[in-house]
Amino acid sequence: MSETTETAVGAEVWPYPIRYGQVKRHESDVVVLGGGIAGVWAAIGAARQGAKVVLAEKTVTARSGAGGAGVDHWQWAADNPCSRVGPEELAQALIDNQGGYRNGISTYIQCASAYQALLEMEQMGGKVRDVDDEFKGAPFRDEASKLLFAYDYDARFVLRVWGSNYKLLLRKECRRLGVKIIDRISVTGLLTRDGRPGSQVIGATGVNTRTGEFNLFKARAVIMCMSRPQRNWTFSSELRGITTFRPPTNVGNGHAMAWRAGAEFTMMEKSMRSPFASPYSYPSYGVGNAINTWFACNIVDANGKEVPWVDCNGEVISNFDDRYRPAEGQKFFIMGGGSSSHPHPGLKEYAGPKLIPDLAERMQNGEFTPPFYADLTSMPDHERRVIWGLNVGEEGKTRVPVLQTYSQAGFDPEQDMLQTYDFLRGSGMREPVSPQERTFGEQGVCGGLVVDWDLMSTLPGLFGAGDLIYGSQDHSHAAATGRYVGRRAAIFADGQQDEHCDDGQIADEMTRVYAPLGNGEGNGGGMDWKELNAALCRVMQNYCAEPKNAELLDLAEMWLDDIAETEVPKLVADNPHKLMRALDVLDILTCDQMIVHACKARKASSTHLHFNRLDYPELDPPVWHKWITIRRDGDQVAVGEMPIAPWGDFESNYQSRL
Ligand SMILES: Cc1cc2nc3c(=O)[nH]c(=O)nc-3n(C[C@H](O)[C@H](O)[C@H](O)COP(=O)(O)OP(=O)(O)OC[C@H]3O[C@@H](n4cnc5c(N)ncnc54)[C@H](O)[C@@H]3O)c2cc1C
Repeated sequence: MSETTETAVGAEVWPYPIRYGQVKRHESDVVVLGGGIAGVWAAIGAARQGAKVVLAEKTVTARSGAGGAGVDHWQWAADNPCSRVGPEELAQALIDNQGGYRNGISTYIQCASAYQALLEMEQMGGKVRDVDDEFKGAPFRDEASKLLFAYDYDARFVLRVWGSNYKLLLRKECRRLGVKIIDRISVTGLLTRDGRPGSQVIGATGVNTRTGEFNLFKARAVIMCMSRPQRNWTFSSELRGITTFRPPTNVGNGHAMAWRAGAEFTMMEKSMRSPFASPYSYPSYGVGNAINTWFACNIVDANGKEVPWVDCNGEVISNFDDRYRPAEGQKFFIMGGGSSSHPHPGLKEYAGPKLIPDLAERMQNGEFTPPFYADLTSMPDHERRVIWGLNVGEEGKTRVPVLQTYSQAGFDPEQDMLQTYDFLRGSGMREPVSPQERTFGEQGVCGGLVVDWDLMSTLPGLFGAGDLIYGSQDHSHAAATGRYVGRRAAIFADGQQDEHCDDGQIADEMTRVYAPLGNGEGNGGGMDWKELNAALCRVMQNYCAEPKNAELLDLAEMWLDDIAETEVPKLVADNPHKLMRALDVLDILTCDQMIVHACKARKASSTHLHFNRLDYPELDPPVWHKWITIRRDGDQVAVGEMPIAPWGDFESNYQSRL
């Protein structure tokens, strides 16, 4: 097809040249798919190992992904010199706190090397210490190193960092190392040896989101860093300002394409009720709360009465400083601030201080009067400045919309309080929501790609890092696993032969990718991507929400298959941007199908997986304490399992791969 400029597309004038069907080829030792936090670190890791690296990113690498706008908490850096807990003990605690359903391999890599990654960040120009002595003398500061800590000030394994410019610095480092960054490529599929699913992965395909040009990436090793599924139960681009916690362009493309290629997945049955899925929620960390970024802010009621805090034993904390210390008899705590009303099934052993759990009842009884407020004015000076300054200033999605906007509007943390919308159906950070308001990948650890100690999937040549791999989360995790996998993939690539990409597989993918362009009115077309996304959400809300049983899940499967057969052919796109959106929703459909298959396969309920099977009501029976795996095998789904801790010894496995 020919190149045009200022093309009239439908009723619109498209400002970029249209190049549908034209093919651009790229060749490298390692190709990184997704230029978020894990992606840029993976590219750096592979380039430092001497590999020729290409990185393809759907949006713009400078700020893309969940961590593109910033990070304020550098989690679980047990390798930092002030940590009172070692990597092995912390990794095991994090796993135990999730009932075993957390990835031991990547969690150990995180605990053992997050601080090393941070030191590299510092060499790239990132601020990781309080060099300006803004918080001199504060209880969360180590005076010798000037490092700042969060949550548990005794244990000191979570650092406070100035991460709002880290992504820019990482991109600069990629460029310095010669990584070829190609922005605005939505990767659509994986190329396999001989074009067969289940064989070695030797490349990928993608479309340019401005021109529609087809891009072909041939490589000896492929690293997927495309985050996780979102928009499976709810999606609204109209009802609220921030439609998903992570960027709405993270939809699980990596999950869908690896599924089509025959890779194995696990934990796909986990989904949870979450305010992040509510169309009525406010921007995260933008309203009064006492969680994460705002830990451990005073919360007061409409009359200025302070809401008490309790420790893991339920004892009221009378001394303010004790909100940042483990309780009597507790060695350390993990996070804190959690919820007054939204129970998390974590272990009491590691529970952090939180607001009284019976606040709702005590409000009903008249003891507290809504609305409630986050009261920075009554906080110690260093705590107020670190929340409204460092944390809100460096956290993802808050620097401009919250700190800057509120400050310009006159908000003064020394005088003003910020209203919370808890109990007002405003879906505060932890407010209970309806069973249908669920998320898969917006919050917590979730399902993903099965990987081994090389972070290689069950398909040779296909690696993963960051939020995309099963049972993992966090910015520092993405950095540590990206840095690690880049090295492992480069070593793998070094030993590989040159492969020929299968022409039939490429042609099939081009047909699939461009199909929505041909679905005009005459073809029964006209359904846009938002309508299809809404229809898919409705199926998941009705048949794969809180109560599950075989009958409901069969209906979910039937409806998803029906939509795939009868509605998808009507999906229409009339410019490259909408083509990307349409392809995203097709991948959401694939992710939904993966979720339903996994839900059918787990025949037991589980607290930690937020999984409620009416036909198998027993909670966490020991025989089901294992990972359920799924893999596409032709037209069938192969169900398997892994023992709950398949990773063996942490240290020897890790050390032997450095
Ligand atoms: C508001 C907010 C605050 C957070 N704060 C913290 C914090 O303080 N501490 C912490 O530890 N964690 C935090 N997190 C989580 C953290 O940001 C993520 O865990 C981390 O970014 C995961 O890195 P990743 O590379 O796996 O995914 P991402 O950084 O999201 O990157 C995924 C990348 O893949 C790209 N992509 C997706 N699909 C395609 C495709 N088809 N083709 C090409 N590219 C594609 C995306 O555009 C994106 O650039 C926060 C998250 C949010 C949303």
